[in-house]
Amino acid sequence: MAYDVIIAGSGPAGSMAAFVCAKAGLEVLVIDKLRFPRNKPCGGALSVRSQRVLQSVGISLPLEITDQVISGIEFMGPDLKPFVARTSQPFAKIVKRYLFDDYLVKQATAAGARFIDNCPLVRLEIFADRVVCHTNQGEFSGRFLIGADGAASKVARITGLRSPEKSDEIGIALEVDVPVSDQVWNTHLDPSVLVVWMLNIPFGYFWAFPRKISLSLGLGGMAAGFRNMRNLLKGFSRMFTRRKGLPPFNLHNIRGQMLPLYKQQKPITSNRVLLTGDAAGFVDTFTGQGICYALESGLLAAQAVIKVRKHFLDPTKVLDQYSQLVQQRFGDELRCSYSVARFIHSHVHGFLQTSRRLKCFSKVIFDLASGKTDYYQIIHNPLRFSASLFIHELQHRLHRRA
Ligand SMILES: Cc1cc2nc3c(=O)[nH]c(=O)nc-3n(C[C@H](O)[C@H](O)[C@H](O)COP(=O)(O)OP(=O)(O)OC[C@H]3O[C@@H](n4cnc5c(N)ncnc54)[C@H](O)[C@@H]3O)c2cc1C
Repeated sequence: MAYDVIIAGSGPAGSMAAFVCAKAGLEVLVIDKLRFPRNKPCGGALSVRSQRVLQSVGISLPLEITDQVISGIEFMGPDLKPFVARTSQPFAKIVKRYLFDDYLVKQATAAGARFIDNCPLVRLEIFADRVVCHTNQGEFSGRFLIGADGAASKVARITGLRSPEKSDEIGIALEVDVPVSDQVWNTHLDPSVLVVWMLNIPFGYFWAFPRKISLSLGLGGMAAGFRNMRNLLKGFSRMFTRRKGLPPFNLHNIRGQMLPLYKQQKPITSNRVLLTGDAAGFVDTFTGQGICYALESGLLAAQAVIKVRKHFLDPTKVLDQYSQLVQQRFGDELRCSYSVARFIHSHVHGFLQTSRRLKCFSKVIFDLASGKTDYYQIIHNPLRFSASLFIHELQHRLHRRA
């Protein structure tokens, strides 16, 4: 049987694409190399923007998937003087990735997609009218292949869409889940606040993100900038517990993964193949956020494939449209995130001092984090951006005085 579309990888990008294609009545096969539910090293911060993308296709998240609702960030820079910036509106949720990803793939199967886990794509043959995927569970033929197989994408490598990346385009992040008791939450930590310490890490930071009964501790940045990441993470953990008045954590099962850094636009389609999510390199270099772009690109790729199947359009043109749409929606924004990361990491002290002093500056951070604005808009409309900052600061000061 030939599927309308085969999707390699069932992270947020793959499951979103599968869900949307299946809803439109296409024959969909999703394969994943791991047995589900599977875990994935991730802070699990799901921005308001990601939640909006899910809502736009009719997916609402059940309560048990959300661990915490986030409305503040504790920043600390090399001067070791922490401060907490807060916003009245939550800008993110923390989700458990093994539950979140499993829930999304179940939405796709409920919509009619077939899902085979423990089924790695090992080889690919691409013909003029179809793609044949070879796996450990047999071969499958589809009219299109959506590559949603993550940062080390096999699809991207086999199709030649990615060759080994340059060292300034590869990020890396380590993460560990540390159990935390109720009593610690009540006395030492704030479950609505993300801890982000920018301590001279090239293009990166340490984090402590609150979960329900644990903390996600992690560290990420440009791969070339690290020597011994595990020791760095352990050092951060010691510093964190000391500063929060907690006994030292035992760090078991530290896990790491590559993170693409989006320095420039690259091809994301070839013949009958479309790349999405991390496989296409869609990660915000400054924050390390990728779930949102995985969901958005999964949706756009699905819409492109549906157009060809339902309206018999020329596949080449539609695939080109997919590339253009991605570029318009967030390609420029991701490119700017690289420049922003480079600028801020060379001026961490000034950036944090300004954020501490000016309310309007932390508002920008929250607007960026929640998806109300993006780097591209800021960089390309500096006058409008400065005016809105000025007005916000003025309003805040007048309000405080009143
Ligand atoms: C430590 C860490 C922390 C992070 N924290 C955050 C965060 O807090 N917020 C945020 O927004 N982003 C975060 N990110 C980034 C985010 O995890 C990714 O951008 C996001 O998961 C990308 O989704 P995806 O669907 O493209 O790929 P993935 O979620 O990586 O899914 C890819 C899937 O493909 C499967 N696969 C791989 N190879 C094959 C194959 N050959 N055949 C079949 N299947 C295959 C994998 O098993 C996997 O299930 C973090 C990343 C890291 C590494």
